[in-house]
Amino acid sequence: MLKAINFYINLYSLIYVKTMTDTKKDYQKILGSVQKPVKGEAGKTGTWSSKKPIIDLDKCIPAKSGKLSCFNCWLYCPEAVVSRTIPPEIDFEYCKGCGICMEECPVKAITMEEVKTE
Ligand code: SF4
Ligand code: SF4
Repeated sequence: MLKAINFYINLYSLIYVKTMTDTKKDYQKILGSVQKPVKGEAGKTGTWSSKKPIIDLDKCIPAKSGKLSCFNCWLYCPEAVVSRTIPPEIDFEYCKGCGICMEECPVKAITMEEVKTE
């Protein structure tokens, strides 16, 4: 009887491990197919962008923690101009000032500032 119970426990463990491994592989395949836009789809905006995002490094999660975490700004930026570095940096030559990064920041670390034109 005990042998039978052990057999079923082992069988269940094998099936569980196999299922989890397959799920992880599928998940990695899906992530691998995600594509980021090419930097500066809208062209250089250094001369016409009217707003620019400023990151408050005292609030930014990776800047504060020193860990590669969050990066919603990098993920959601349609121009791919935010770096996935600590701290994240924005290339203002190509940033179009849309404010999506500000909307997606979970800790409200980004504010949009008016660009002064003379
Ligand atoms: S979304 Fe906000 S908290 Fe996250 S990395 Fe960007 S600036 Fe930092
Ligand atoms: S405002 Fe933010 S989301 Fe929009 S282009 Fe600039 S960095 Fe990217």
